[in-house]
Amino acid sequence: MAIRNIVKTGDDVLLKMCRPVEKFDAKLWTLLDDMYDTMNMANGVGLAAPQVGLLRRIVVIDVGEGRIELINPEIIAQSGEQDGAEGCLSFPNQWGMVKRPMHVTVRAQDRNGKTFELSGSELLARAFCHEIDHLNGVCFVSRAYRMVDPEELEAE
Ligand code: ZN
Repeated sequence: MAIRNIVKTGDDVLLKMCRPVEKFDAKLWTLLDDMYDTMNMANGVGLAAPQVGLLRRIVVIDVGEGRIELINPEIIAQSGEQDGAEGCLSFPNQWGMVKRPMHVTVRAQDRNGKTFELSGSELLARAFCHEIDHLNGVCFVSRAYRMVDPEELEAE
C-alpha cells in the first residue's frame, strides 16, 4: 500500500480534461489500490485520478457501502434532485451547497476492462457526480451556489 499526495486547489491539473484508460494492467491496479488507500487515509468518500496528479478517467468511491472502482465512467441516467453541503479532499475545510440529482446511474469499466452499470442514490449519487466532474476538470466550488462556514455545518 502506498499513500499518494493529494493535489490541492491552485494546481492546474484539477482543471484539465482526463484521457480515457486503455490499458487494464498491473500498473492500473496498483494505482487503484493506492487511490483507495489514499482516500481512506484522508477520510474521504471519493477520489479521482487528477487529485493524485494523473489525467486519467479513474475514480474510486466508498460511501460506507464498499469499494467502488470506476474506469472511464459516464452518467447514463439521472433523476430527482438533492441539495446539500459538499466538500472535496482537494479543498480542505471548504464546503459549498451544491444541487445534484437524487438518483444517478453510471456505466463504467472495472479493473479488468469489463463494462458494468451501477445505480446510486443520495450520497452515492452525489459522489458519482462530484468525481466524474473531476475527470472533466470541474471542481465542486464552481457548482456551489453558496459556500458554507464549517462551523455552520457543525451546528446543524
Ligand atoms: Zn473532489
